[in-house]
Order: sequence, then structure tokens, then C-alpha cells
Amino acid sequence: MHILVTNDDGVTAPGLAALAAALRDLGRVSVIAPDRNWSASGHVKTMHKPLRLEPARMVDGVEALATNGAPSDCVALAVLGVLGDEVDLVVAGINPLANLGHDVTYSGTVTAAMEAVIAGRPGVAVSTANAERHGYAPAAAVARLVVAAVLEHGLPPHTLLNVNVPDRPADGIAGVRITRLGLRPYLDHLVRREDPSGRAYYWIGGELPSDAPEPGTDFGALADGCVSVTPLGLDLTNHAAAEGLGGWELAWP
Ligand code: MN
Repeated sequence: MHILVTNDDGVTAPGLAALAAALRDLGRVSVIAPDRNWSASGHVKTMHKPLRLEPARMVDGVEALATNGAPSDCVALAVLGVLGDEVDLVVAGINPLANLGHDVTYSGTVTAAMEAVIAGRPGVAVSTANAERHGYAPAAAVARLVVAAVLEHGLPPHTLLNVNVPDRPADGIAGVRITRLGLRPYLDHLVRREDPSGRAYYWIGGELPSDAPEPGTDFGALADGCVSVTPLGLDLTNHAAAEGLGGWELAWP
């Protein structure tokens, strides 16, 4: 079993080393990660500049490969054969903050796992709600548990798992829930400033998004101290809306 480990925080991020170490006894682990932080970069395919691959070391001294591409490029390089043999499973993380609800469309961690799905491989994205407080050990143990289950049972076609670990120490985690994506109200606002020559520039941002912990959702699981495992597909069709749109008279004249 050949497992590709990647992340969106860069090859020197501690969550990457923790994830690779946790999976090492489940198969052969190869690491390809970006040479810089790509958090909130979304799903990227680098087509207009060459991709480089350089030897690197993670924070624990273990060898890895670093690329100037995005997390999804790391996955593409691997599944297209840059390592010389097949990749059976892609695991991305461990992200130091949760990726919940609409975050999945921004997250480099989750889009790395989406790239695996596009390439016909199972993907798992792992994030922890508070790496600063609890480190990566609880999330690494959760990642190992989930990946072992994926290797045992397989995933349905075109499916990735978005795994989020609650803001708890390992012995305070209350269980594991299978969830759906919730909705997160973003608290973004626009800051307009002027540069020395009087031209406007903008920052988009603000406080961390607030949570709406509805039961059954990823937010709900984390609010109850549980690990959230959300199966995701890439079919973004809004089937209910398609039914309604069928009533529009969009006949071409
Ligand atoms: Mn990140």
C-alpha cells in the first residue's frame, strides 16, 4: 500500500511530519508537499509555469520532496508517476485549524484530497481545531484510525473523507461521528487603505468565522467534542434546484 502524504501549510509544517509518522506502519509513505504555505488557496492546477521538485526534510528530519506547486499539484505529480510507482491513497494534513462547512472550497488541505478523487484515488483530509493548544498527537492518532479503516473497507467511488478533530486533548475526545457539511457564517469585512501614492488597496478578512453547531453537521460534532468525518463528493449539482428550474421556460427561440 503506497500512501502519499501532503499538506497545504508547507513541507516544514509540524502537522505534516506528525501525519507521515502516524501512517508509517500502515504502508509505504511518500511525502510531497509545497515549499511554502498555500492555506486557503483553493483547488489549483499549475499550467503556466514549470513545476520543480526538490529534496527536503520535514521538521523531524525525515526526507520528503518539496514543490513550488500547490497542494493539488503535489497530488497530480504523484498520481501521474513522478514517484515511479502507483499511489493507492492520498492523505492531506494535519491542518492546524478546522476545515468545516464552506471552508472546504477554500482549503488547500481538502482540495488536495479532491485532486485524489479526480485521479480516481481515495483521499482523506485531516484538520484539527486547535493545534496550538493540543499539538498534533490527538489528530495524528485519529488520522491513523481513519486511514486504517479506509484501507480495510475502501471508500465508495469519487469520495473523500474530510476529518476534523475537536479542540480537546486525546483523552477528552468523546467519539467519532459521520456528519454532513454545516454552514459557517463568515465574519469577513473589507478594509480599504491607501498606499503612499494615494492608490487604494484592500484587505479581505476579519475575525475567525463563528460556528453554527447544528446537530448532524461537522460543526455539531466538534461542538460536542467528537471527531467529525464528512464524506464528500465532487458533484456540486443542486438537485432540488434543478427540479425547480425545470419549470422555467428556457425554450430557445
Ligand atoms: Mn493550512
